Amino acid sequence: MNNIKAKKKYGQNFLKDDNILLKIIEAMPNNNNHIVEIGPGLGDLTQKMLKYKDMTAYEIDSDLLTILKSKFASEIQSKKLELIHTDVLDIWKQNNTLYDGKYDLIANLPYYIATNIILRAIEDPNCDNIIVMIQKEVAVKFAASEGEKEFSSLGVIVKLTSKEARILFDVPPTSFEPAPKVMSSILYIKKDSTQVLENQFKSFLKAAFTQPRKKLSKNLSTNIDKESLSEIYKELNIDENIRPHELSPSLYRQMYNKVILNDKRTEQPE
Ligand code: SAM
Repeated sequence: MNNIKAKKKYGQNFLKDDNILLKIIEAMPNNNNHIVEIGPGLGDLTQKMLKYKDMTAYEIDSDLLTILKSKFASEIQSKKLELIHTDVLDIWKQNNTLYDGKYDLIANLPYYIATNIILRAIEDPNCDNIIVMIQKEVAVKFAASEGEKEFSSLGVIVKLTSKEARILFDVPPTSFEPAPKVMSSILYIKKDSTQVLENQFKSFLKAAFTQPRKKLSKNLSTNIDKESLSEIYKELNIDENIRPHELSPSLYRQMYNKVILNDKRTEQPE
């Protein structure tokens, strides 16, 4: 492995299974979008994707960068590949996008920041499709539907901002070097770019799922007074015993709109 020792702090588990690499390539959307990869690592997936598309890749580890620069010298020179040495989250802090044009994010993500990366990609207006390898348990949460016990604020966000979200396939630890302790999955999200969620709505969702097994009304009662809450429940015909994972994304939306309206009424009485 180029005598490179995988660095735990960067979540380095290199994908070494040709069948899985091929399955990811087969899952690439058939469109003219650019490709962005986060964490090209030793470049195995990068090399395969470069056969089909131009790419931008963000890598934090300078040791890997040296290897990648020599491996892809001609692609970098011909501008097929733009290789950027940085913490990808810093780019999103400075800009609202990872690429100036429509792109698909295809990557074997560093698991320690995978949730954060996916949430940022959902907000990135230029990102069309997300195809990422992450810990299976997290992928299940992103792809979950109402009623399923794994349904959380992540599931609500995905349902409201995507046309489709599902797990494409699972990947066992033995496909990586070094092998991670957990099972992995490839998550696919086809975004609906017309839908943008306000930060305040996301905070509302966070509050709704603070204690996922308790009643939703209990979680919300810390921020909303009892009377307003019970009025909203009545207006929306919601069962008072409902648990957070049982309410539909659209009802979360409607509930939030009513909470905001109530707040405005209290702020400026007529
Ligand atoms: N793509 C390679 C593969 O499939 O074998 C490597 C995947 S490995 C799970 C995650 C990669 O993300 C590593 O190369 C790691 O150095 C890189 N990485 C970790 N944190 C990062 C960050 N904040 N920004 C950019 N790259 C990061």
